[in-house]
Amino acid sequence: MKKQSKVNALLISLVIVVLSVLIALYVHNDQKKVLDQILAGHSDRTKVKLVNSVKDVMADLRSMSKRWINNHKTSEANWRADAVDFIQRTVGVGSMWLIDEHLNCLWLEVETDTNRLRCQEILAGSEQMLGLINARVTHVADFSAVHDVDNIKTIYLFEPIGKGDDFNGFIAIEIKIQQFIDYIEGDPINSGYYTKAYANHQVVFSNGPELTNQSYLDAFELNMDADQGSWVFKIYPTEITLGLIITNLPYFIAITGFIIALLFMLTLWSKQKAKFESKLLANEISEKEKIQFELEYLANHDTLTHLPNRHYITNFIENRVKYSEHNQQHFTILFIDLDHFKDINDTLGHAIGDEMLKKLPVLFNKVFRHDDVIARMGGDEFVVYLPGEMGEEQVTNLVERFLKSLEYPIQIGEHLIRLTGSVGVAFYPQHGSNVNELLSHADAALYRAKDQGRNTFAIYDKDIEQKAKDRVQLIARLHTANENEEFEMYFQPRYCLNDNHIIGAEALIRWKLDDNQVIKPVGFLNLLEETSLIIPITWRMLAFSCKQYLQLLEHQPNLFMSFNVSAKVLEHPDFLANIKSTLASTQFPPDRLELELTEQTLIQNVENSQYILNEVTQLGVSIAIDDFGTGYSSLSYLKNFPVDVLKIDKSFIQDIDSDSDDLELVKTMIAMGKNLNITTVAEGVENEAQLRLLKHELCDQVQGYYFKKPMKFTDLKQLIISGT
Ligand code: C2E
Ligand code: CA
Ligand code: CA
Repeated sequence: MKKQSKVNALLISLVIVVLSVLIALYVHNDQKKVLDQILAGHSDRTKVKLVNSVKDVMADLRSMSKRWINNHKTSEANWRADAVDFIQRTVGVGSMWLIDEHLNCLWLEVETDTNRLRCQEILAGSEQMLGLINARVTHVADFSAVHDVDNIKTIYLFEPIGKGDDFNGFIAIEIKIQQFIDYIEGDPINSGYYTKAYANHQVVFSNGPELTNQSYLDAFELNMDADQGSWVFKIYPTEITLGLIITNLPYFIAITGFIIALLFMLTLWSKQKAKFESKLLANEISEKEKIQFELEYLANHDTLTHLPNRHYITNFIENRVKYSEHNQQHFTILFIDLDHFKDINDTLGHAIGDEMLKKLPVLFNKVFRHDDVIARMGGDEFVVYLPGEMGEEQVTNLVERFLKSLEYPIQIGEHLIRLTGSVGVAFYPQHGSNVNELLSHADAALYRAKDQGRNTFAIYDKDIEQKAKDRVQLIARLHTANENEEFEMYFQPRYCLNDNHIIGAEALIRWKLDDNQVIKPVGFLNLLEETSLIIPITWRMLAFSCKQYLQLLEHQPNLFMSFNVSAKVLEHPDFLANIKSTLASTQFPPDRLELELTEQTLIQNVENSQYILNEVTQLGVSIAIDDFGTGYSSLSYLKNFPVDVLKIDKSFIQDIDSDSDDLELVKTMIAMGKNLNITTVAEGVENEAQLRLLKHELCDQVQGYYFKKPMKFTDLKQLIISGT
């Protein structure tokens, strides 16, 4: 609950409580006022009733006394009859006495000894005597003090008979106060009020319970006569009357106020609680949504590159197909595979491989637009969705731009890594009507691209299946070519940059068809490796080349022969033995043989490579790292192998005169070679400009079309012997 609203709620509750208490007090006071008024009224009426009753009794007595005078006294029998009549008529009167002018008790009704004795006693009281003497003069009735007669509060009323010379004495009556007033007041249950009378602070009459401090009452005084002083009458309501006037309404109001305040607090509290709980619930829901979102994100994204994953792109393309069916939309799918990415993981470790992959999205974003969707299918495979219709030319431009951007070296820690990739292209709707078809056709096109030597792309076409069949046929053809020995070696001379003299030549395989057509290795080398045909072919061609080459050595013993060795061949357990036996059988001087191995070949199995190369160099054979710069070797890495020559890949040389980055890389590689005392060779030199730059950077040797293309052995022989 917020502090402010808590304070507000408390304040409002307090106000409700105070207000209800005030109203309750007001109502209570009002009830008291009403009761006071009613009590005052009843008190007045009681007073009048009492006064009148006493007056009636006194008037009755007076008429009796008058009769006495008028009749000049009366007979005892008459008097007694009158007395009995009076006593019967007047409730509360116990007895009547006739007292003579000398204040002696004459006749008593009822005539008993105790009665006479009491009469005499009372008359003998000095106080009473004085009052009577006074009454004789004033002719006013005299009251006695209150007497206890057999525990009954009693007073006596003396009515003088005649005055002056006619004074005949008194008629006295004995009034039992309780009985007398009871009769006047009636039953409190009927009247609704109790009465209590005090004479000289002594209770002389009471028809109700004890008075307490809290009792509501009204009081009045009644003066009996000078001797008696005043009687005080207290009038107070019976419980029923009190209950009718002083109701529980104020309590009810106060309690209601408390209850309302409490209810208010409760509602507010439960409202706040509900609010709080709904907030909790909302939090919980938003937490769930967050988790849901994260789960969805994880389900649809690759955690390493944060690119959409296979699941996402498959769904996405499926939806695009559905949409495009109705809207005649076109789109293009690229299937991308990084060439030899496995080697990065194998040689530099998975951490570096992962770092490399992480950098790819930035690279992709440089080429692809933001409405293209790039997804990682897993490993080093990516799929790109390109919206809109694209012609082959447009796709070619885009993919070439992409492949070019991939080649740009990426710095990861101390490693400078250059990537290449292969791309397969499929168009919707031409190349497939659903996601599976589109992806598998783009994939098929990707394989085509790889077949074509990687770092390139292929667009799916309808006869790609046919091409796959062609591939199978080609494999069969290669087998027969092997059996028929249709392979031949061409040689490309290598030159010293200082004086342009030929220092040797590289043997390059060619496939010679029946029609004298010569096929370059790019079209079949992959398949030779896949089928392992490369192994027997290599040894046969090496032996054959060595024999041929010996003819050249007769003329120029310092020439060497460079020979390419693929991973498949190097890995083979018989490699060392075969080298040795070939050298032995052909008598070819080992120090005239140079084996060219790519970095990729060396890193397939580093320990094995190290061992073999060490053994081979023991024989005197040189080792050249081929296609240097396209692999992942670092400087320190090279130290692990006994390397004599670095052949800088022709892709660096190609643009050396136009691309400053390439020039920088070539400079670095040359410097590196110098440092390690390794001969540097530039491959694929095609023009004067490239040559000049290489010379300037002090590259050791060159090879390329600018000097000579690969040629038949006979041509090389002529070149060596006759210089043409
Ligand atoms: P590589 O070892 O890098 O050989 C050099 C390739 O560059 C040769 O292609 C050569 O014709 C070409 N070349 C030379 N100078 C230039 C130039 O100035 N411009 C251009 N654009 N190209 C130039 P080739 O003969 O088609 O061989 C291709 C690849 O096939 C070779 O690349 C090598 O890796 C492989 N290869 C060739 N013969 C053999 C072999 O007998 N055994 C093995 N294992 N691989 C071989
Ligand atoms: Ca080579
Ligand atoms: Ca090369």
